[in-house]
Amino acid sequence: MARYGMLIDLTMCAQCSACTVACETLYRLPPGESGVHLRSFETGRFPAVRRVTLPVQCMQCQDPPCVKVCPTGATYQDPETGTVQMDYQRCVGCRYCMTACPYGARQFDEAQGTVAKCIFCTGRVKQGLQPACVETCIGHARIFGDLDDPGSEVSRAIAERHALPLRPDLGTRPSVYYVF
Ligand code: SF4
Ligand code: SF4
Repeated sequence: MARYGMLIDLTMCAQCSACTVACETLYRLPPGESGVHLRSFETGRFPAVRRVTLPVQCMQCQDPPCVKVCPTGATYQDPETGTVQMDYQRCVGCRYCMTACPYGARQFDEAQGTVAKCIFCTGRVKQGLQPACVETCIGHARIFGDLDDPGSEVSRAIAERHALPLRPDLGTRPSVYYVF
């Protein structure tokens, strides 16, 4: 049993989109349909304003609203890894999960008529590999591992760098953390 999570250190992110492209390439997704989206916004007050680019993907919530609304069980939590997974055979494309996700982490796949999202590269992880976005990150901004193991690299980095999840107030208990 594990609880997989990820740290994304924005101070090391080169904003190069390599993670986005790696996801599109691995899963043969059309351009713009990656499981990782780079979103830019401005922060601070004039004149101390800066632009921040935030890679956003499925937060692998421990209390996922998307799972609660899915009428077919197509999206579900894997008890072995704590991740939110997809069974595309069961997805009827109703998009309830897209509406329920407060992070905008899901995309509708027009070609398949189903909804897609980041699944933490579960197939690669089962083979002992890192998720594609982690492996390809040229800034080494991403760390993946078991959040339930306090000695794992990801757990230690989250603690040492004072990383935070996005919108913890929503009560979704995300498993993706950021260093801002
Ligand atoms: S980020 Fe969205 S899609 Fe991912 S588990 Fe949370 S609610 Fe579901
Ligand atoms: S679109 Fe698919 S995964 Fe999403 S709620 Fe409907 S059946 Fe479930």
